Amino acid sequence: MQFDVAIVGAGPAGLAFARALSGCGLRIALVEKAGERDLAAPGFDGREIALTGRSARLLREMGAWQRIPAAEIAPLREARVLNGASGFALRFAPEGRQGDGLGHLVPNHRIRQALFEAVAGLPDITLLAGTAVAAVETGPEAAQVRLADGRDLRAHLVVAADTRFSETRRRQGIGASMRDFGKAMLVCRMAHEVPHEGIATEWFGHGQTIAMLPLNGDLSSAVVTLPTRETDRLLALAPEAFGAEIARRYGHRLGAMQLVGTRHAYPLVAVYAHRFVARRFALVGDAAVGMHPVTAHGFNFGLSGADTLAREIRAALARGQDPADPAALQRYERRHRRATWPLFTATNAIAGLYTDERLPARLLRHAALRLGAALPPVRRLVTARLMEAGPPSLRLAG
Ligand SMILES: Cc1cc2nc3c(=O)[nH]c(=O)nc-3n(C[C@H](O)[C@H](O)[C@H](O)COP(=O)(O)OP(=O)(O)OC[C@H]3O[C@@H](n4cnc5c(N)ncnc54)[C@H](O)[C@@H]3O)c2cc1C
Repeated sequence: MQFDVAIVGAGPAGLAFARALSGCGLRIALVEKAGERDLAAPGFDGREIALTGRSARLLREMGAWQRIPAAEIAPLREARVLNGASGFALRFAPEGRQGDGLGHLVPNHRIRQALFEAVAGLPDITLLAGTAVAAVETGPEAAQVRLADGRDLRAHLVVAADTRFSETRRRQGIGASMRDFGKAMLVCRMAHEVPHEGIATEWFGHGQTIAMLPLNGDLSSAVVTLPTRETDRLLALAPEAFGAEIARRYGHRLGAMQLVGTRHAYPLVAVYAHRFVARRFALVGDAAVGMHPVTAHGFNFGLSGADTLAREIRAALARGQDPADPAALQRYERRHRRATWPLFTATNAIAGLYTDERLPARLLRHAALRLGAALPPVRRLVTARLMEAGPPSLRLAG
């Protein structure tokens, strides 16, 4: 089978990249090991993705945003960060323009479903679902992709979007810096007594980090970071006992709580690929940059990276070049690295500092919150970063 571009993985990043590239005359293969039925109707996986204004715009341009049911899109008005037993909160909210929030929360499975629908049926995209990519060989003229079912594809460019633990990346000889935080993140929906008022809270308590992300109605997404054995214990608790424990762990700030739906846990491993491109090869999504979720930027980066790579390929085609033009791939690498490396590094530092139980770290994070509050430009910069599509006055603040 002959294609121009073969994409490994139809997760949100692979789907977004396929959609961003569609329509420029290339034949695109999208290979996904999960079956087509799972792609068309993915189940709830506990993740509620905080999307910046820019990501919402990109999804709209891809025809995906319009497919997400409005009742599933929750506005994020404000974010607060609390440390230990202190009642002090560092607040992030857009200034001046009431009604303009920091972004939106959308369930991951709805994003995946909407992107799948936006891609399904496009004449230039061939979906090969239910079979994994087993090997990739890149040469000067073309790349060869071997599927687990024995079929072979030929393409000019292979783009891997096959998770942060990407096998394709490893097989291409590209290493990655990995930081294993030795903890797991438990995510689930909780109904509660007290309204959240659209405010997300990140509370760095002693021995645990717990965030509550506001969903529509008196419902929040609980995001609890704990040592893995503790997460396992919480996963096994009966729903009533679980609700009571989360309410207690959250200091009863939202009153009594009840579990709604299923619980899910994810290991906390941050990954940054040493290179994003090689001969006739590129990485997008978590395969390039797998963020710690505390700053809620993994998929936002996945989307912006897919957009950047698609633009570079389109520009190469307009110049009459190969879609795997080395200079175009290098430009993608530079731009995506510049866009992601500072926040990747800062996020790991924050995650490390805020889960360190030693006294100096506790004092330092308290001082950091106070300092952040005392410096409005810092708060404005973080707020603008969260919004990304904020008004110019916010983007230039500070
Ligand atoms: C708890 C949690 C909360 C998060 N919150 C946020 C947030 O608020 N904001 C945000 O922006 N991001 C957030 N993220 C990050 C976001 O979920 C990820 O960045 C995003 O899902 C990555 O998408 P992806 O397509 O790169 O990878 P994945 O979703 O991992 O998809 C990879 C796909 O590749 C397929 N695959 C793997 N190997 C092969 C193979 N050999 N052949 C074929 N197919 C293959 C897999 O089956 C899968 O479908 C969060 C993550 C977690 C865990």
